[in-house]
Amino acid sequence: MDEVLYAVLAENIGRYLDVADRGAAHSVELRRLVAAWRALLDVHRPTGRGGRCTGCAESRRRPTMCNVWRVANAFFIRPEG
Ligand SMILES: [Zn+2]
Repeated sequence: MDEVLYAVLAENIGRYLDVADRGAAHSVELRRLVAAWRALLDVHRPTGRGGRCTGCAESRRRPTMCNVWRVANAFFIRPEG
């Protein structure tokens, strides 16, 4: 994934998860879900060669945004309906 795109996504999704975490003060399940997403996104941080994430490093496809970040973007930043 492109470095600039990653920086924008990481900032916006991180901000969303911060808001969700603050609003989840009384929900153990929701806080666990937020923590799980943070851990998942950390595993899929694009640090590999050509902007690939270590979680998807085995993929032979060209280095585009990995599916984990696509899902996070679709649900947290650009929800449709
Ligand atoms: Zn990935």
